[in-house]
Amino acid sequence: MNSTALNLKSRILYHVAKSAWEGTLFERREEICEMVSKEFQDQTTRRYVANQIRMAMGLDPHNDDHVLNDYDEEALMGMASEPTICVNSDACQMCPEGEGRCEMACPLHAITRDELGKVSIDQEKCMGEGHCIKECSFGALGEKSQFIPLIKLLKEQKGPVYASIAPAFVGQFGSDVTPGKLRSALLTLGFTDMLETALYADLITMKEAFEFEDHVKTAHDFMFTSCCCPVWIKLIENKFPDLIEHISPSVSPMIASARVIKQFEPEAKVVFIGPCIAKKSEALLPDLKGAIDYVLTFQELATIFEAAEIDPVVQDDHEKAIASWSGRVYAYTGGVSAAVDATLKKLIPHHSQKLVPIKVDGIPDCQKLLEEIRKGQLNANFVEGMACKGGCVGGPGRLLSPEQGQKFVSSYGNASPAHTPVENPQVYGILARLGHENEASALTGTSPMAELLARKLGQ
Ligand code: SF4
Repeated sequence: MNSTALNLKSRILYHVAKSAWEGTLFERREEICEMVSKEFQDQTTRRYVANQIRMAMGLDPHNDDHVLNDYDEEALMGMASEPTICVNSDACQMCPEGEGRCEMACPLHAITRDELGKVSIDQEKCMGEGHCIKECSFGALGEKSQFIPLIKLLKEQKGPVYASIAPAFVGQFGSDVTPGKLRSALLTLGFTDMLETALYADLITMKEAFEFEDHVKTAHDFMFTSCCCPVWIKLIENKFPDLIEHISPSVSPMIASARVIKQFEPEAKVVFIGPCIAKKSEALLPDLKGAIDYVLTFQELATIFEAAEIDPVVQDDHEKAIASWSGRVYAYTGGVSAAVDATLKKLIPHHSQKLVPIKVDGIPDCQKLLEEIRKGQLNANFVEGMACKGGCVGGPGRLLSPEQGQKFVSSYGNASPAHTPVENPQVYGILARLGHENEASALTGTSPMAELLARKLGQ
């Protein structure tokens, strides 16, 4: 995206977040539209700005120069709807090379162009991973935000609101922003607490270790992991349905975090914060809906901090060591396999020698590997797929380069006192609170906890 489009989108996001924080968004929305249109009048139209404001407010673009229509206020009260990724067609000025970069960037060929050259997204093909957004120099592609109802919730303080923060968070808000400072900043914003999604990845790692023992017995058996990547799962569901039976029957750590928190506090709201745009769609899937209430990207959270004038750097350091190395390294490609490998060795040592993992990232390489598997050419039995290059540290809502992100995550993972969930007392604390004496009774068979963390795909 060129600097004008980038500045424009971030300026709009900032103004919308700031006026929402101050409680003046509904009165000021057209004024903001006018102000930003004037500022960028050489590059854009009022309708384009109005539609960028709409997407920042969680609404679909429309065919009008005004921001809201009569039906929008009601829509704004709830969670943003599908589709998450939208086209602001007034912004599409067609790339000079003659072929749109967004079209070339989409490995699923979900972006098409009509005879007038305007782009549209085939929502049947789009898997919501969102890297196309960065490719458009004109800001014609964007994702809808969910922070308007969230800001309202945080300001009202009517009940507990937890932030479940993705394992890729370390270092994203600056090298001086420790996890403890980020926790304090989120508390200042109005959250009840910040919980690492990595702790719930610990639970899923244990569950996947048991699943591996259960599903992979002969030389022909194999299993797909990375239930954490919704695009990888959707790719298999949509294009390789014959392979669905091999997917781990577990929910993602994001969904696990919300379901467990709501077991303890049913009235709680849970907000997932990560580098991933596709998680906005995952939270709305029919069998998962109701667990996560809102999803924010790191970029959106940084904008909200700015709008609320909260500087995470100067916050107190309220550290809580809660996740093991295994849970923390889910953030980068190879992390899930390494976590399950290390956990199997501790939990089920006699079965651990059987594990032969393979990892793949980026949609084209994921597709290639799945084609090979379909042809019977898999030389592994534990397959980890991540849609973004580098894994979640390479997600489109990140604030750092994937390389920098991985460096921060690695050193944070190494700093954990527990290497695997088996050594993590926090994991056993959750199991005990839910009435389980050990991991085997909690995470296998038809125990209520195993059911809580289960996902039945293809049924
Ligand atoms: Fe989202 Fe991570 Fe999958 Fe990228 S790799 S789509 S950030 S879950």
